[in-house]
This record gives sequence, structure tokens and C-alpha cells, in this order.
Amino acid sequence: AATEMLLEVNNIEVVYNDVILVVRGLSLAVLKGEIIALLGANGAGKSTTLKAISGLLKTEEGEVTRGEIRFAGERINGIDPHLIVRRGIFQVMEGRRIIADMTCLENLRLGAFTRSDNQVKSDIDMVYGYFPRLKERTGLAGYLSGGEQQMLAIGRALMARPKLILMDEPSMGLSPLLVKEVFGIIQRINRELGVTILLVEQNARMALSVASYGYVMEQGKVVLDGTAAALADNEDVKEFYLGGH
Ligand code: ATP
Repeated sequence: AATEMLLEVNNIEVVYNDVILVVRGLSLAVLKGEIIALLGANGAGKSTTLKAISGLLKTEEGEVTRGEIRFAGERINGIDPHLIVRRGIFQVMEGRRIIADMTCLENLRLGAFTRSDNQVKSDIDMVYGYFPRLKERTGLAGYLSGGEQQMLAIGRALMARPKLILMDEPSMGLSPLLVKEVFGIIQRINRELGVTILLVEQNARMALSVASYGYVMEQGKVVLDGTAAALADNEDVKEFYLGGH
């Protein structure tokens, strides 16, 4: 099968406020059309890595001080976040970050802020196709349940028609049943819309069940990588990330 490189992170280093070194020489690659898992303990630097790619680090006094991030063949580090969205990368932040005092529909329209084509309306229906419950919720987004907010955050990302979605802990705060549902939809979005997904997760079991390949981060670096099947079978991964089973 043809394999096209979509995202390449080469040996990056990230500092916050000019001093704290959080990512130290991290490299990873994401092929077009895949779901890639980025695993690791709390504080390993996973969220920081996603923000380095999406440009959102800038809003937190963070900076990529070394290395290179290439997307679709072009260098993107240092570029403003809204321009990175225009290039086709959309980050679904940890904790969802939907706008509580706007409706679902308004939140979805916000996701399309970079678009000027006339298909925004039909894409809203496409999002409702994946998340039928969102269509029924006409009140403010702040009153949605945690699961619905996660769905809205993913739907809002889809409205940007991204090539790559960076997803930070979609399972966070959700019941096991909802986690299953959300991951099922993530898989369908990947297959049906061809959206490539880089997935950060504490729930390694769930992440490896949908990903084709995975990276394990510790202290700002990749310490292990391999196919999802190989990682799920790896003794260290089993012990530290899959609860010893
Ligand atoms: P978690 O699952 O807890 O989010 P993570 O692997 O995503 O963990 P990061 O959130 O990237 O880890 O954090 C990595 C390190 O960077 C942590 O030590 C954290 O305290 C530090 N850090 C994160 N954000 C900032 C910031 N804005 N300023 C300074 N240090 C930060």
C-alpha cells in the first residue's frame, strides 16, 4: 500500500517560560490515513507535544527551541495556531474547551471559522449524523453532559475539515460505556472521512484497540514505539500501562 507521510516531528525540544525543558528530543511520524497513539504517564509531555504541533504552545509561553515539525512536506513550527488550522490540523483539547455560553450549533459553526465555502451547512448535518444527540440539544453547551461535550468538541473539529486531528484524552471523565462509544466514532471518522488522527490517551488499552501504531513517552522522549499489536503485547507496556494484564 502507498504510504504517504503526513506529519513528521524531528527531534524537537520544548521549553516553557524560557526555562523548563518539557520535551527533550522527541521524534515521531504519522502516515496519512492512520490512527496513531501517543501514550505515557501523567506529565510525560504528551499534551505539550500536541500543542507544539498545533501552535497552541505559544498561548502558554511555550516554545519549540530545537528540531522541526513538518506537515504535508512543509515546516510548520513557529506558525500561528490559526494558520495551522488553515493548513489542516485541528486540536481537540483536553477537557474539551467548548464554549459554555453558546449553543451546540454555534460551537459547531465556530469550528468552521477558517472556511469560506458554502458547504458548512451540509457539514453540520454530517456532524449530526455522527452525533445525533447533539441535534436534540438546543440549549447552551455548558449544560451538556461530559460525554456530549466531548462529542461536541470532536464535531467542532470536523467542521474545520481537517486532514489531521490531534486528540487529547478523549476518554477523560467519561464512563466506560461512553468511552467505547466515543472511540467507536473516532474509528468511523478515520475510516469514513479519511481523517488522520494522533491520539493522546491515558487509557492505553482503548487507544491501542483503535490505533495502528503507537509511541510511548517518558520524560519528554519516546522510549518505545511499535505497531499497536506489538505494544499491546509488550511486557513493559502491559505492566505500566495496561494494569499488569
Ligand atoms: P497529562 O496527562 O498530565 O496532561 P502530559 O504527558 O500531557 O500529562 P504535559 O501536560 O505535556 O504532560 O506536561 C509535561 C510537563 O510540562 C509537566 O511537568 C507540566 O507540569 C509541564 N507544563 C505543562 N504546561 C506547562 C506550562 N504552561 N508552563 C510550565 N510548565 C508546564
